[in-house]
Amino acid sequence: MSDQSCHTFQTKLLHHKHKTDPATGAVSVPMHLSSTFHQDDIDQFGKYDYARSANPTREALEQQIADLEGGCRGFAFASGMAAISTSFLLLSQGDHMIISEDVYGGTFRMVTQVLSRLGITHTFVDMTDLSAVEKAIQPNTKAFYIETPSNPLLKVTDIQAVSELAKEVGALTFVDNTFLTPALQQPLSIGADIVLHSATKFLAGHSDVVAGLAVVKDEELAERLYFLQNSFGAVLGVQDCWLLMRGLKTLYVRLRHSAEAAGKLADYLNGHPLVKKVHYPGLKEHPGYFVQRSQAEGPGAVFSFELESEQLVRPLTSNLQIPVLAVSLGAVESILSYPAKMSHAAMPEEERRKRGISNTLFRFSAGLEDPEDLIADFEFALAQSTIHTLAR
Ligand SMILES: *Cc1c(COP(=O)(O)O)cnc(C)c1O
Repeated sequence: MSDQSCHTFQTKLLHHKHKTDPATGAVSVPMHLSSTFHQDDIDQFGKYDYARSANPTREALEQQIADLEGGCRGFAFASGMAAISTSFLLLSQGDHMIISEDVYGGTFRMVTQVLSRLGITHTFVDMTDLSAVEKAIQPNTKAFYIETPSNPLLKVTDIQAVSELAKEVGALTFVDNTFLTPALQQPLSIGADIVLHSATKFLAGHSDVVAGLAVVKDEELAERLYFLQNSFGAVLGVQDCWLLMRGLKTLYVRLRHSAEAAGKLADYLNGHPLVKKVHYPGLKEHPGYFVQRSQAEGPGAVFSFELESEQLVRPLTSNLQIPVLAVSLGAVESILSYPAKMSHAAMPEEERRKRGISNTLFRFSAGLEDPEDLIADFEFALAQSTIHTLAR
């Protein structure tokens, strides 16, 4: 057998330790729908005893994501928020964390309304500004939490630089890698300690499962996170593990197509007179363009854009035919979302404006449609929007 660790990422998605079932030869990981496992004797336990602690189907997924992220161990959770929240429990009362200011809304809520109540404090900073990050360090800073590219403005944080700062003060670096996945960015290889995913998005990829994953760099952290996963108990169900593994098989081709489509559409919108600004790290004028190039294999399949006027917002959404209008991203169908009323609705308007999330901002996640159809759809909808606003 060839050494599977030397395969490229694309090949590893299909050819890994669990590609065939040793018991039957099945080429799809069996769903072990069993909550408990028979033991040979009262003091002779097998590898599995109770499915919250370990289940062979979940274990296959956990080993696969660990391998893809280049980590030592992976953990599957009931949602991205379950993965993130459980990992936050590595911190203790009295600890402080530094966190990206435009972090995912659910993470913002967890940090500001739950962890704060447990005596874990935080400082939000613009992580693209390293001197601001340095200034925010306190004697009890135990974690740096990065989302890059960020949501919804696609700001790019230098993972290596932040994790070096973290190491200097003995803190952990967490990276939410949902937007790029290990196909494009592998944070553990450039200094991060824990990688987190909403696997609901690109990893599963079909808008049909809610799931979360975490991968850690070393054995010591693996022991601690395993203890928390088992103690907190927000594990991913067996059928969802299987769906996620099915989605992973096509991750590379999906992301390659979607990223190319996002690039074409971002270029098109960037030149459109009704579009004020496009935020996409694949555009040369994006402030994070070079950092993105240095730490990732590409800019990804998500971008955001601002229209010239708020009056165009409703006509655009009603005239677009292809993208679904929804929260979420990273699916086979393109998804358009309106952060001010969707993902960031919980944020007071003033906080939103401070973070640059205006009422003319849309986020777009490219799916698997023909990019020319997407461009034509936007061309038509924007033309209709002008007619609509002129007529008013
Ligand atoms: C969706 C998302 C989450 C939360 O994941 P769920 O699976 O919805 O719990 C966390 N981070 C990012 C960047 C996300 O897009």
